[in-house]
Amino acid sequence: AATLSRPDVRTDFPGLLTEDGERWHYLDTAATAQKPQAVIDAMANALGKDYATVHRGVYSRSAQMTLGYEAARRRVADFIGAKEQEVVFVRGATEGINLVAYSWGMANLREGDRIMLSQLEHHSNIVPWQIVAEKTGAKIDVCPLTDDGLIDLDALEDVLTERHKIVALAHVSNVLGSILGAKRAAKLAHSVGAKLLLDGCQTAPRMRLDMNELDCDFYVFSGHKLYGPTGIGVLWAREELLGAMPPWHGGGAMIEKVEFERSTYAPPPQRFEAGTPMITEAIALHAAIDYVDALDMESLFAHESGLAAKLRDELREINSVRLFGPEKSAGIVSFAMEGVHPHDLGTILDEENVAIRAGHHCAQPLMQHLGVPATARASFGLYSDESDIAALVRGIERTQKIFA
Ligand code: PMP
Repeated sequence: AATLSRPDVRTDFPGLLTEDGERWHYLDTAATAQKPQAVIDAMANALGKDYATVHRGVYSRSAQMTLGYEAARRRVADFIGAKEQEVVFVRGATEGINLVAYSWGMANLREGDRIMLSQLEHHSNIVPWQIVAEKTGAKIDVCPLTDDGLIDLDALEDVLTERHKIVALAHVSNVLGSILGAKRAAKLAHSVGAKLLLDGCQTAPRMRLDMNELDCDFYVFSGHKLYGPTGIGVLWAREELLGAMPPWHGGGAMIEKVEFERSTYAPPPQRFEAGTPMITEAIALHAAIDYVDALDMESLFAHESGLAAKLRDELREINSVRLFGPEKSAGIVSFAMEGVHPHDLGTILDEENVAIRAGHHCAQPLMQHLGVPATARASFGLYSDESDIAALVRGIERTQKIFA
């Protein structure tokens, strides 16, 4: 099905070939996305002919770099329907959640308060809250899943209380591809006076985002899953909320005035960007957003959710395969093969130039819930197509023969 405006997108990605120049069936985009040449070029130029520091230089190269860095922030804001002063550059989603947990959490949580997470969260949306819970005396509650692996919002409605100060949920699960009913989650959280943080790591590369429409309070995602470089991510928060949050890292660039008696801090977003920032990464993220936006986010969603549905249909035909997660997936399919450890499957598939992920996917509580130590996971990107599915299914059938 032609869901993308340009069917030849694969040629933009040098990483999609093997060393021998053969097609690499890369099905691990949920871990990290391959980069289009436009992003590689943007990064090379930023590190090369354009390179200088930002914010401090009086010479023109530095002034240019500062414009580039701030243009990247405006591009992110535009991409997610936000104001530029609400966009904080961080190293990735993990750092974004840690920032909220420490800055907002330490200032707002106390003994008796509750933090609501869900059974399918990534470790990066669990452990920061545990650390802060330990320091503040707040306690963590876990929202259960429906039978098909969605965060159960009926259950959330029943268990939320006025003691819950924050609800932190994956917008799309990195293991199951489940899509959260985000607007309802926001309504439920706000009805008890709690804030809602959404982990948008798997959403930002696959769905059109509009912060106003979503009505959450915090949103985080990583650049490297959005076809940009590693080392850059975004924390978005409402202006008033960010403005009321204390800094968490101290250093250069986040201050107004420094004296040994006391320092005062810059307004957000600078307050949360101590030190020389990820200049080249931000500029390359800008190029990545230009790239995906030109293909249209709605087409990307249709493309990858369509591939996930097709893969599920094909895997259902194979007796030894057990499928996890909902029928409607954003582009991520987890499964297990009877009598074959996912790692063995991954190794055999690798011989056929098919790359999947095997393991707990940084979601051990979800593995416990599914009753397996690990799953095999195929995840699609904008460059995936039906030939990747065919190669995966061939590899699974060969594995079945080997283990028979
Ligand atoms: N949350 C989800 C849902 C993820 O998929 C990931 C990455 N696997 C993360 C958080 C963490 O992102 P990062 O490692 O880029 O900080």
